[in-house]
Amino acid sequence: MHTAHRTHGFTESVIRGMTRLANEHGAINLAQGFPNFPAPDVLKEAAARAIRDDVNQYAITWGTKRLRDALARKYTEWYGMTVDPESEIVVTCGATEAMASALLALVDPGDEVIVFEPFYENYGPDAILCEARPVYVPIAAGRELDLDRLAAAFSARTRAVIVCSPNNPTGRVLARHELEGIAELCRRHDAYAVTDEIYEHIYYEGKHIPIATLDGMRERTVTISGASKTFSVTGWRIGTIVAPQRATDAIRKVHDFLTVGAPAPLQEAVAVGLETLGPDYYATLAREYRARRDVMHAALVRAGFRCEPPQGAYYILADFAALSDLPDDEFARWLTCEAGVAPVPGSSFYSRPELGRTLVRFAFCKTEEQLREAGERLKAVGGGQGR
Ligand code: GLN
Repeated sequence: MHTAHRTHGFTESVIRGMTRLANEHGAINLAQGFPNFPAPDVLKEAAARAIRDDVNQYAITWGTKRLRDALARKYTEWYGMTVDPESEIVVTCGATEAMASALLALVDPGDEVIVFEPFYENYGPDAILCEARPVYVPIAAGRELDLDRLAAAFSARTRAVIVCSPNNPTGRVLARHELEGIAELCRRHDAYAVTDEIYEHIYYEGKHIPIATLDGMRERTVTISGASKTFSVTGWRIGTIVAPQRATDAIRKVHDFLTVGAPAPLQEAVAVGLETLGPDYYATLAREYRARRDVMHAALVRAGFRCEPPQGAYYILADFAALSDLPDDEFARWLTCEAGVAPVPGSSFYSRPELGRTLVRFAFCKTEEQLREAGERLKAVGGGQGR
């Protein structure tokens, strides 16, 4: 029997698989990054109101006017970008669809896509779906991006570089000079920067700089973000794209045939969130995440993991070599089933599994109470039971 060939290069999502395992074993799920605390009332009420008002049919395929207008204003107010809501925005089913649609629209079979490693597991399969070749460039937590190494990875076939900052899974927030270096290479090689800025409001050091705001980059950047992390609504699946008109035209076609559109009433609610929530909301979001980060980091260090506090996003990639000789996937499974805390195996963030063999990723987008409980459970691991 013939099976479709486009999925040969990838297995099922390790992150989503760990959620299933955590549920089966009643473990605290620090694997898949979704909050366990409520979304802002203003969004929930707006969503309920929209449904009651019968905003229940297809929205315009590339996004409701109200949301596109709100997004254009947001990009101007936060980042000084001028964005035409009529021709430069696409609203998608999450940043995940945004990334897949953007790459499908812009990358041809045989092209190369540069991916910083470790990377969020979707990017590899996204490249494979386009029949492109992912080219991996390492960027370790706490280290400077090696621009010489990045330069050597560019070739005549490079079509795009995927830039995720604040980074999943390392928590790195790229500094201006690093972004300038990436931008210079994109301009020199006529390549796109396709970004994943879903954690744009969750950072603890430095500043979030969209690469689109750097010289000459607006016309060669696809800026991806969404409501999931900013408004704690990962299940709503509202992603956003800002891109120059030519790219937007192509992305809109792919998006239309893949999904027709994102959920109409939820787009209304996200628009209301963008219109209503002010600087206080975003400052509180970052402040509360910093407190959760500190709880999680302290608990991991106490339990014997080696890790640094991340600069942004809500993950800690931790080395467990001092605790166990197991490979990462077995250790993650053991931790889930026996200790009751589910992480993601580190190998899922690397092109070669051996690079992540002593690593697991913990998400700390949970109440401090749940993180403290996870910390208690992890403390028991320190005795070396994971060997
Ligand atoms: N981005 C989140 C993570 O890395 C959620 C992934 C997903 O399943 N969509 O855990």
